[in-house]
Amino acid sequence: MPFPPPDSPAAPVPPSPPLGMLRMARRILQVEDLFSETCRRDCYCLKCQRAFCSHCCGFHHGHTNWGGDMVVRVGLDAGGGGQPVFPTHTAGGGHRIPRPIAEEIAAEDYTSRLARDAFCLHCGRAFCAAVCDHHHDRSGEGIPAGGAVLRVVEERGGRICVRCEGTEWWAPHMDVALGDPVHVGEDERGQYYELLPVLRFERGSCLRCGGAVPRLPSTFCSDLCNQAHHRETEERRRRREARHAALASGAVRQQLRQLSISS
Ligand SMILES: [Zn+2]
Ligand SMILES: [Zn+2]
Ligand SMILES: [Zn+2]
Ligand SMILES: [Zn+2]
Ligand SMILES: [Zn+2]
Repeated sequence: MPFPPPDSPAAPVPPSPPLGMLRMARRILQVEDLFSETCRRDCYCLKCQRAFCSHCCGFHHGHTNWGGDMVVRVGLDAGGGGQPVFPTHTAGGGHRIPRPIAEEIAAEDYTSRLARDAFCLHCGRAFCAAVCDHHHDRSGEGIPAGGAVLRVVEERGGRICVRCEGTEWWAPHMDVALGDPVHVGEDERGQYYELLPVLRFERGSCLRCGGAVPRLPSTFCSDLCNQAHHRETEERRRRREARHAALASGAVRQQLRQLSISS
């Protein structure tokens, strides 16, 4: 997507997104181990006619008004070289799965390991973007157009980073949970992006220094750490705003171009 010209008006202010949802999602992102495991497609939905991963997409295929037996579990045969195996009847012994549909089920890929490379602020959930597009479709519930999905990248050294292009509506809400960029660049489409590391902390430890907290649900060891954290967040916000203002003016892009020409 091209940058807006320097004199174009600022993007319209989006409607206020649900702050409680964002607070919860930030906490999950910072505290929980979301990305170390991989997924695989382990189910097939007869209604949607597609294979999916129950972790990423399970709750998108409830289909309760269809009797709840539209999902076929697909295991891997341990003795048969990991071939997909699934029952001949729908769950609960409902209906025999007709042969052409069984062939469709069998034709899907259930063995590839899939990285969890996205995070949905709406659901507070990590998922594999290639397997599930439902999370992208959450605008309208207080969430601006474009949805609430963050692209997640694992940097060398295992550091989890969020990819930010500088124009996302959620950026101002994430200063408290995402650090300064560990990488800025342009992707193969010429799109500017930066990688912002997730500022992790452990439940029961001070969010800022990692020390013990006196009592839960406090997230700081002391008022001092609390104040310093807010000051640091505010400084990070100013740096992000300055960076993204330079981005909108085209200055950053020029710098990146010069760097790539001179290197
Ligand atoms: Zn999954
Ligand atoms: Zn889904
Ligand atoms: Zn479905
Ligand atoms: Zn979602
Ligand atoms: Zn502390």
